[in-house]
Amino acid sequence: MSVLLNGEKSYVDEKKEDEQSTLSIDKKRQGNNKNEFNKNVDQIAQVSNIVINSKQEEKILHSLEQSYYSILNTIPGEDVTRQGILKTPSRAAKAMFYFTKGYRDNLNELINDALFNVDHDEMVIVKDIEFFSLCEHHLVPFYGKVHVGYLPNRQVVGLSKIARIIEMYSRRLQVQERMTKQIAEAVTTAINPTGVGVVIEGTHMCMVMRGVQKTGSKTTTSTMIGVFREDPRTREEFLSLIRH
Ligand SMILES: [Zn+2]
Repeated sequence: MSVLLNGEKSYVDEKKEDEQSTLSIDKKRQGNNKNEFNKNVDQIAQVSNIVINSKQEEKILHSLEQSYYSILNTIPGEDVTRQGILKTPSRAAKAMFYFTKGYRDNLNELINDALFNVDHDEMVIVKDIEFFSLCEHHLVPFYGKVHVGYLPNRQVVGLSKIARIIEMYSRRLQVQERMTKQIAEAVTTAINPTGVGVVIEGTHMCMVMRGVQKTGSKTTTSTMIGVFREDPRTREEFLSLIRH
């Protein structure tokens, strides 16, 4: 993971031209007290934020274990009683529980206490953040790198929190396009920046392993919000900064 703080002021002019939308964001922000912030965050997190106690966890793991046993027992040529895979159902259950831990994350808890007020309104870029996810169509991994850029509106978020947001959405059954959008929306909700850009480069094992796609080829998806969408120069600046 590397971080770029871009010192160029090239988009200041555009921001003046775009005063109206900046003003409306300012107005919104004036009423943006802690409760309102929490409410916004909850709305995004509501599909996740699943709270599971240790008893429920035990039940879920047991059920997953039985399912994996059944899968192994169904595969022609496999023998569930052989030494090497005796404990596989239990191990696979724990692994799957971990791979889907993002459903149990809470954006609100994750972001809280990591927001900082700043004077500068220069682009913040966090690039090359590794992610590992599971394709929801085949339950096979896809993985790669996420690049996030945003133009702060007097607030920035701790850099490690960007990585945590990415974990929250990648540790689920996913499709790359939706994950890209969810990360951009979560950053928007958390710090209400002037704009956000998210680019994800992913390698999909379901494609590579089945020989549909050549090894090494990548899928790139992007979501642009605010000035990153409206202003081609801001977008271009972001894209050129993540390219090297
Ligand atoms: Zn797939």
